[in-house]
Amino acid sequence: HPSDLPVYRVLMMGASGVGKTALTRQFMTSEYKGTYIESPTPEIDMVEPELNVNVLLDEQESTLHFLDEEQYPDILKEELSIDAYVVVFSVSDTSSYNYAVKTIRTLREVQKTHKAIILVGNKIDLARQRRVARHDALRIAKKFDCRYIETSAALNHHVDELLVGILSQIRERVSGA
Ligand code: GDP
Repeated sequence: HPSDLPVYRVLMMGASGVGKTALTRQFMTSEYKGTYIESPTPEIDMVEPELNVNVLLDEQESTLHFLDEEQYPDILKEELSIDAYVVVFSVSDTSSYNYAVKTIRTLREVQKTHKAIILVGNKIDLARQRRVARHDALRIAKKFDCRYIETSAALNHHVDELLVGILSQIRERVSGA
């Protein structure tokens, strides 16, 4: 029964236009997902959109519950328990990268969170417009103990890997590894 599954809350963060909505939409079509649970209260979701995806990893299913920072401007001030932060930037947009780095720095140094953080360089299909080098993002991810993954929501490239990566990072932290 779906309600017996562990549910983890994942906050999508990052500048506007980097592809948070597009990535979340692709998660819904992932091969790894189980059933997409439609909200029983769509009228509430108009105000607070939430998305659940069941992900199967190591023969164990868990529910990832996605929240978008832009829909929850005060989420970090609230006592909502977040299990993982997905911080997205566009590899074609330096300012979105700087914003992502600032966000991660705040999470680790101000919020002092030890939760899973996944840095995502999206829009890698825009190869000729790339402004952020992979090795720069990797270095920052390493410095702040984050996972780094490059995706294209447009081409559905590495989106399943991201989904599974989020769950594996959460499980590692939950098990205290
Ligand atoms: P959000 O504001 O972070 O939720 O960004 P959206 O998901 O709304 O995406 C902003 C724009 O970028 C839209 O026009 C998307 O179609 C486009 N977009 C999102 N992901 C990609 C990607 O991987 N590649 C390209 N080329 N465009 C993308």
